[in-house]
Amino acid sequence: MYIDTHVQLNFSDFDADRAMVIGNAKKAGVKQFIVPGVDHLSCRTAVHLARKHPGVIFAAVGYHPYEAPKNPDLSYLETLLQNGENKKYIVAIGECGLDYHQYKGEVAGGRKDLQQKLFREQLQLALDHDLPVIMHCREAFGDLFAALEGLSKIPRGVVHCFSGGLQDLRVIQEMGLYVGIDGNVTYSKQLASIVPHIPLSMLLLETDAPYLTPVPHRGTRNEPKFIPLIAEQIAKLQGVKTGAIMEGTTKNARTLFSLSENA
Ligand SMILES: [Zn+2]
Repeated sequence: MYIDTHVQLNFSDFDADRAMVIGNAKKAGVKQFIVPGVDHLSCRTAVHLARKHPGVIFAAVGYHPYEAPKNPDLSYLETLLQNGENKKYIVAIGECGLDYHQYKGEVAGGRKDLQQKLFREQLQLALDHDLPVIMHCREAFGDLFAALEGLSKIPRGVVHCFSGGLQDLRVIQEMGLYVGIDGNVTYSKQLASIVPHIPLSMLLLETDAPYLTPVPHRGTRNEPKFIPLIAEQIAKLQGVKTGAIMEGTTKNARTLFSLSENA
């Protein structure tokens, strides 16, 4: 079985047919889902979905760097985390991180200093609650590593939707973190050149659905049922069997997010 470690089933893109999307993923062998929050509402929905699908959907709670201009405080996340009933449903902090990609001439998520503050606060939250952290990083690896190195210790975690180079991969490996690979591995030449260098021991599969639909379904909404296409492409690039990628990444996901096997 597969685990989709980053899927936005909490987004309104799935309001009309969420149950069918989950059912079709299960038929394709994708049986557990990590659903991260990006803002207040999507965190609430992620926890709600996890409570509705125990052992199948697991929530992460966090604020995306795009939220940084609103300068949110973390009290709502604390409230969710301190509710004892949520303990088995919230398995990570995230997604959080840094996104410096230019959009219409401005840094995508607003000022860099606000992004860094919000990110550092959530890294500390992860350490305080002994939870892994799901990190988003776009064109900001230097500052991401600096934020992690500024902590008393490096939290457990994953750099999701990995887009860095070989040097970034080495630093992530030294820090004991995982990388998440998405459907863009089926069409990105840059990713195709990096993936052969990623050890299976640090690899996670994710769709980031509804975004990043893999070949041959580009142009349509992405769904977690496409996880096997990502595994097949990674296996091809690494010259190994798809089954090995499936087993290794499922084991990694269980280890990082402390998931039980009885899905
Ligand atoms: Zn992201």
